[in-house]
Amino acid sequence: MFDKILIANRGEIALRVLRACKELGIPTVAVHSTADEDAMHVRLADESVCIGPPAAKDSYLNVPALLSACEITGADAVHPGYGFLAENARFAEILADHNVHFIGPRPEHIRLMGDKIAAKRAARELGIPTVPGSDGGVGTDDEAIRLARDIGFPLMIKAAAGGGGRGMKVIRAASELPAGLTTARAESLAAFGDDTVYLEKYLERPRHIEVQVLGDGKGRAIHLGERDCSLQRRHQKVWEEGPSPALNVATRDQIGETVAKAMRDIKYLGVGTVEFLYEDGKFNFIEMNTRIQVEHPVTEMITDIDLVVEQIRVAAGSDLMFAQDSVKFHGHAIECRINAENPVSFRPSPGKIVHYHPPGGLGVRVDSAVYHGYTIPPYYDSLVGKLIVHGKTRSECLMRLKRALDEFVIDGIETTLPLFRALARETDIIDGDYHIHWLEGFFARGGLEQ
Ligand code: ADP
Repeated sequence: MFDKILIANRGEIALRVLRACKELGIPTVAVHSTADEDAMHVRLADESVCIGPPAAKDSYLNVPALLSACEITGADAVHPGYGFLAENARFAEILADHNVHFIGPRPEHIRLMGDKIAAKRAARELGIPTVPGSDGGVGTDDEAIRLARDIGFPLMIKAAAGGGGRGMKVIRAASELPAGLTTARAESLAAFGDDTVYLEKYLERPRHIEVQVLGDGKGRAIHLGERDCSLQRRHQKVWEEGPSPALNVATRDQIGETVAKAMRDIKYLGVGTVEFLYEDGKFNFIEMNTRIQVEHPVTEMITDIDLVVEQIRVAAGSDLMFAQDSVKFHGHAIECRINAENPVSFRPSPGKIVHYHPPGGLGVRVDSAVYHGYTIPPYYDSLVGKLIVHGKTRSECLMRLKRALDEFVIDGIETTLPLFRALARETDIIDGDYHIHWLEGFFARGGLEQ
């Protein structure tokens, strides 16, 4: 096992990783920017190192500073959390060159899945069904129009290096394609440093369903069921739940086994998520994330498996602790991502939390790094915390969610709590009858302003 783990992240995920390390008896090192001196992960870690000024590029993304922090503290492993350097293959390689373990997949798999075109190709070769689209990046406008006619309209232009819900454009007719390609290429170059784009059939009413996997890097891999993340705003997840209201046991087992087999074939190491759009009973692969995800607690609540502990164990060379048939799913879990944002305009609302009272009781979990009197700095993403609720059935889970949301008090800043209070009372949500564009419709109908 590792002697000491440096957590190269901040906020709730830094705390989440720290908790796993404590339970494994592994000393921790927190790193922080000058804006995060009072952060909870810094307070709770065994040691902490300041790695730079507030801007993420100078601190949480500052590889030389992180390497120095490992050296000074003697950390022999780095957990990257999600975001920042979590899917940076070069970072994993640099750590390896300095004899520090990266808690994550091998660089070749991070790189493969980081390129969405290569990832789709690999998925197809591994027997995973993909969204119909161009086989690779698109070249000239004429070629794009030819390809588009085969795929059919509407379609999506997507950035090969895209992420975080950015780099996507819907095209409804051939005449829109040349201008769309020009903008998409320019945006992709500016955001990701790569202007490769590809075409994909645009699915009108799919659900976003993702399968959680865990592999030991030696050819054993299991799946841990799915999460339904169809409630999205601007392609970003807002509400996640598991199991998906749209799947039955047989379908779950089938897609889960297809994905787990693919992970065994490539000898995948660590946790990962294989994402699909699910429409008309068909799964269509869109991408794979090679890290722990924001919504991982949903799976933890319905399997009782600590994904971060398992991630650390396999990174240290341990075998999997579970066979597929020992993974049992029980009950239902829902996660709400609570952001420091105005719930109508979604304008960020950093500032001081003057009163904080999280909900509690049976089946209620709050993953957050804020506290009474904490000031949310303006430099990072606006996630304040995640409320995760578990129930024996989906309806018990929804009932518990409503009462937990009503108990939750965060004063001093604006949050998206009112949005979740409204969603938990919507008939379509209660019925589990929604798709990836449902939330857009809710806002178009007036959303919270109704
Ligand atoms: P990112 O890496 O930026 O998260 P994804 O490829 O995972 O991008 O897609 C994010 C979301 O964008 C999906 O969950 C879905 O809502 C939407 N999306 C992506 N591809 C398509 C598509 N072909 N048709 C319709 N919606 C799509």
